[in-house]
Amino acid sequence: MADGNVNEIEFRDDVTVELIKSAASDADVLWAARVSTKGESSLAEIEADPERSKGLINFLMRDRHGTPFEHSSMTFYVQAPIFVFREFMRHRTFSYNEESGRYRRLEPVFYVPSPERKLVQEGRPGKYVFVDGTPEQYKLVTEATKESCRQAYRAYTEMLDAGVAREVARTVLPVGLYSSMYATCNARALMNFLSLRVKREDSAFPSFPQREIEMVAERMEEQWAALMPLTHAAFEANGRVCP
Ligand SMILES: Cc1cc2nc3c(=O)[nH]c(=O)nc-3n(C[C@H](O)[C@H](O)[C@H](O)COP(=O)(O)OP(=O)(O)OC[C@H]3O[C@@H](n4cnc5c(N)ncnc54)[C@H](O)[C@@H]3O)c2cc1C
Repeated sequence: MADGNVNEIEFRDDVTVELIKSAASDADVLWAARVSTKGESSLAEIEADPERSKGLINFLMRDRHGTPFEHSSMTFYVQAPIFVFREFMRHRTFSYNEESGRYRRLEPVFYVPSPERKLVQEGRPGKYVFVDGTPEQYKLVTEATKESCRQAYRAYTEMLDAGVAREVARTVLPVGLYSSMYATCNARALMNFLSLRVKREDSAFPSFPQREIEMVAERMEEQWAALMPLTHAAFEANGRVCP
C-alpha cells in the first residue's frame, strides 16, 4: 500500500515471488533415476507408465535417494525485506543475484506488518508460540515503524543530496527496507528450504520459521508444485523431509 503522507515512501506488508524461468518436471527425476538401471531412456518411455513413475518417485523420496531431484532448475524473482534475505541467503545450495545499493539509489519501500501478523511471542526458545497483539500494540508497531523508516530515508537522501556516496549513505537504512533478487535452485535444494521455512505441524521434523520468510516459501512451493506435482506429492507424503 502506498503512504500518501510522506513524499515517495511506500509501505508494504506483502512479498513478491515470481517463477521467471524453469526447466523442472517429474520426468527429469525419472530420467535421472532410470539411468541407474536402464541406461539412457527417452522421456516418452517414462510418460508411458504414470503409475510406475509415481511409485519410483515415492521410493526415491522415502529412501532419501536425493540426487535425481537435482536435475532441474527454477529461477525465482523475489522482493522482500532485507531481514528475509539475510535468512534466505543462509541456504547455500541456491544461486543468488541481488540489487546493488552501491550502484543505484535504493527505492523507499519498507515493510510494516499487516494486521494479521501475530505480534507477541510467548514460551521459551524452541517452544515459541506467537499470538495476536492488542490494538494498542498494533498501532504502536505501525506508527513506530513508519516514523523510523521515514526518518532513516530522510537521512539517506540528505547524504546523497550532499554528494555522499550511495555505499556510505545506505548505512542508516533499516533491515525492513525491501530488496530484490533472483534465486535459482534445483528441486532438492528447494525441498530443503521448504522443510525449514514452512511451518507444518504434520512434518516429520516441524520447523518454526519467521512468518515473513514463510510467506516467501509458501509462494515458491505453490509454483513448484504446479511444475512437479508427483515430486511435490511424494514430498508431502513422506513427511516433508528433504531426500
Ligand atoms: C527456524 C530456524 C532458525 C534458525 N536460527 C538460526 C540462528 O539463530 N542463527 C544462525 O546462524 N542460523 C540460524 N538458522 C539458519 C540455519 O542454521 C541454516 O543456516 C539454514 O536453515 C540453511 O540450512 P542448510 O544449511 O540446511 O541449507 P543449505 O545451505 O542450502 O544446505 C543444504 C544442505 O547441504 C548440505 N551442506 C551445505 N553446506 C554444507 C557444508 N558446508 N558442510 C556439510 N554439509 C553441507 C547439508 O546437508 C545441508 O542441509 C535458522 C534456521 C531456521 C529454519
